[in-house]
Amino acid sequence: MEVKLKSQTIIFVIGGPGSGKGTQCERLAAKYEFQHLGVGNLLRAEAGRPTGQGRQIKDIMLKGALVPSGFVLDLLNDNMLKREEAKGFLIDGFPRELTQAKEFERLVRVGRPPNIVIVFDCSTETMIQRLLLRGQTGQRADDHEASIRQRLETHYSLCEPLIAYYQHKNLLRNPEDAIFTKCCSVIDGLL
Ligand code: ADP
Repeated sequence: MEVKLKSQTIIFVIGGPGSGKGTQCERLAAKYEFQHLGVGNLLRAEAGRPTGQGRQIKDIMLKGALVPSGFVLDLLNDNMLKREEAKGFLIDGFPRELTQAKEFERLVRVGRPPNIVIVFDCSTETMIQRLLLRGQTGQRADDHEASIRQRLETHYSLCEPLIAYYQHKNLLRNPEDAIFTKCCSVIDGLL
């Protein structure tokens, strides 16, 4: 089981709340036949359980705080093992802090860093607008002002060391860079 997991492609998709991680991952997973694991989605399923732990997770998520990393890593590990036949994983919303990045390499059975990490850059205004709009549809209980503020704060305070960590490992990919590169090649063609 372990050997199989080791050969699978692992892609982390990180970005602020409302940056479009989940939406793009669904499309990418369908195109490449990868397994999409949205950590927020997995946690919402856990939060729906009528247990003490379920209620605790629900409270944390409603506030927009981070669920303890040990729980998140176990959940991710279990879900990756359950889908051992997948040829690749698109994992969105993970890691959210440096400890999670390091612990993944240490604790999750795959025992190595992801193949690449895709970062979604999005302006704060756009993220807030999208989340408030989604809040109006009632899809997500945490899309209210206080939680949005907390999620953004958590994101901005923790993402920099994470980005530096993966940059150092040369694993970081920013889709906007790819667009920039394409624009350059179009302009270069004029010169
Ligand atoms: P968003 O990125 O819009 O906040 P998600 O569905 O990705 O939405 O996450 C929702 C909530 O789930 C987060 O606010 C947090 O409470 C919890 N969560 C998601 N991913 C993680 C993670 N890697 N570590 C800890 N908590 C997480």
